[in-house]
Amino acid sequence: MQNKYIKMVDVLIIGAGPAGTLAASLLKQKGRSVQIIEKAIFPRFSIGESLLPRCMDHLQEAGMLEAVKAQGFQQKFGAKFKKDDLACDFDFTDQFTESWKWTWQVPRAEFDQTLATEAEKKGIPILYEHTVTDIQFNDSSSVTTIEDKLGKQTKVAAKFVIDASGFGRVLPRLLQLDTPSDLPPRSSFFTHVIDKSRPEGQEGERIVIIVHDVNTWIWLIPFSNGKTSVGIVANPSFFQEFEGTQEERMRAMIDTVPLAKERLAGLDFDFEPIEITAFAKKTKALYGKGFCLTGNASEFLDPIFSSGVSFAMESGVLSAKLIDRELGGEEVDWESEYVNYLQQGLETFKTYINAWYDGTLQTIFFNPQTNPTIKKQICSVLAGYVWDLSNPYVKKHKRAVKVLSQFLEMAST
Ligand code: FAD
Repeated sequence: MQNKYIKMVDVLIIGAGPAGTLAASLLKQKGRSVQIIEKAIFPRFSIGESLLPRCMDHLQEAGMLEAVKAQGFQQKFGAKFKKDDLACDFDFTDQFTESWKWTWQVPRAEFDQTLATEAEKKGIPILYEHTVTDIQFNDSSSVTTIEDKLGKQTKVAAKFVIDASGFGRVLPRLLQLDTPSDLPPRSSFFTHVIDKSRPEGQEGERIVIIVHDVNTWIWLIPFSNGKTSVGIVANPSFFQEFEGTQEERMRAMIDTVPLAKERLAGLDFDFEPIEITAFAKKTKALYGKGFCLTGNASEFLDPIFSSGVSFAMESGVLSAKLIDRELGGEEVDWESEYVNYLQQGLETFKTYINAWYDGTLQTIFFNPQTNPTIKKQICSVLAGYVWDLSNPYVKKHKRAVKVLSQFLEMAST
């Protein structure tokens, strides 16, 4: 086997998902040399298809918004939650935070390829079908070993490494940074359907969440290509009740939820359903000397509020700015400027996720008494503006949700 250095770069990025390509774009804008190493060949499937308006800020800053606009993806104007004959609609035009009022619903194969192609157009090299297998850090730089499909190894030297490898979680594995998530293990089954029965109007321009019970829910994410993404999230024990092929199991699961059964009856699946188990992930550290973790390689919570891609972009863009400053000789306080900042958003989402699964938020959402001011504030959380501390439902997220649910409980007795 041949061993040689192919190049020396300022920043090596593992993975060409949204975290990796946005970080690369920002670094390139700032004049840094970057190399992305990507295990797959694009386009490749990925889950995480419903974006949040917050993503638009990042796409704009990375100079990629126009390229995405040109793809004609389905516009998304809100999120609708349904349970039996109850419904709660969040419209992103009716928000507390002055911000983007819409975003997209995207087949990730095309979306990620758009970002990667745009990164390449900006002069960022992406080495596809190469896997990062090892990284050695020394005082002022690092040497990363990459392997092609035939097992041929080469090495890249870099001053800084961004791990944007998603569930590949390269650095957490190599540096033993994995730690159990504080969220209970949940699993998901999903596919795309050829959607011949899409309702006219609002529901085509939203993510629709159908609640089965407090732990079990189904997403519907319509795309502009005539397909709709459908996924079920539940405790692992729910999935064990169903037998047969993956398609038979998923159809039987859908049939247990009347609203979903009615909406999806007779629709063909585009591919055999995929199962992801125990998706919540966490790490002991988000950075170290010469590296940082972004997106799913750092922490992944839960898909209920579609926060994954927003968080991937937020961490990718922020990491790039901090690395640029550090390479420029400035001292960066990674603990406060990176960890504490990201934790603010993660902790806010965690409150809403926990409140969803303990039933508190479902009680709030489906309560007929709606305070328009509070609804706007919660809508901005669901739009991804979880760093807007002028929003009381962000600043004091835990307390605000608890007090609201207690108030509604008292009002209903
Ligand atoms: P990715 O997009 O996963 O990119 C990582 C890249 O790294 C991949 O291309 C991979 O091939 C590459 N890679 C991995 N290992 C290596 C290696 N060793 N060497 C080189 N390259 C490597 N988020 C939303 O915003 N909206 C949703 O609706 C949503 N739904 C979800 C539903 C489910 C069931 C789950 C589990 C997640 C969902 N998410 C959603 C989360 C979303 O999928 C992720 O948060 C997002 O894709 C993370 O982006 P990333 O850039 O960190 O990683």
